[in-house]
Amino acid sequence: MAWAGERGTRFCARDVCRAFRVVIGVGLASSSVACATGATAETPDLLDPISVYAVNSDDHTLSLVEGDDETAVDSETWRRVRALLPPDILDDRVAEFHVFSDGADEFLAYVAQLGTDRKRWLFAVDYVDAVDADAGEWVTTLTHEFAHIIGLGDSQVDPFAEQCGKQFEIDEGCARSTSWLQRWFDTFWAGERFVQHRKTVGDAEANPAALEAFYRDHEDAFVNEYAATNPVEDFAESFAYFVFMDRIAEPRTEREDKVNFFHDYPTLRSVRAHIRAQTAVRRATIDDHPE
Ligand SMILES: [Zn+2]
Repeated sequence: MAWAGERGTRFCARDVCRAFRVVIGVGLASSSVACATGATAETPDLLDPISVYAVNSDDHTLSLVEGDDETAVDSETWRRVRALLPPDILDDRVAEFHVFSDGADEFLAYVAQLGTDRKRWLFAVDYVDAVDADAGEWVTTLTHEFAHIIGLGDSQVDPFAEQCGKQFEIDEGCARSTSWLQRWFDTFWAGERFVQHRKTVGDAEANPAALEAFYRDHEDAFVNEYAATNPVEDFAESFAYFVFMDRIAEPRTEREDKVNFFHDYPTLRSVRAHIRAQTAVRRATIDDHPE
């Protein structure tokens, strides 16, 4: 599919996440993600949607809003997303499905809050990568993106609060006091860790060397380098490990505590069970990256 016609209105993408290949350590390729906060203007053209669809709330089919009409290909891609992730939650939260492509690999998917209705999201998928919907990288990336949708949803983060007070503040709003993200922040980030991160890393995307150095100093605390980007990415990345790993019987490190963290929550356990029932992808250890 090629881009046809004028580029339409872009939404306020406050947290555009996409997956790409990174090389960790001795040449091991691993899936990871990058997020660009408020990066609509800088988003590479290859991430611009080729087609934008509204997700019909009644039967969850797609209606083309703009771009190429490749409904058969795109409907199949959407079907594969809904075949992996809990469709009831997707249907409740995702109002738009975007199709893009930068070719095989590189960027696989991203999500963003819709600027017009911050309770709803767009879900963007590279249709080329969706062809291999059983691949570990595709499955784990979609799970990471889904973690953003549930972890930053309006039951978890108040998008309209003006002052966060003691609550964790992010671009999407203020974490609610009983939210998973607030507990995540309080447990793993609050205090010296957060102060040091802000001081030495700040905007991780703008400071990749600082991120790498921070990660090297705290390898036991993060499932991978990308997780050290910020608490939100740490949450989403660790969530994907929670889904595909067995519960760790005797956690010995902070990063193992992070994988186990989500088991405390029935809602998250049921999301995990759903996804695991749809795919054979598993991680044997934190350092295991399914292809
Ligand atoms: Zn992300």
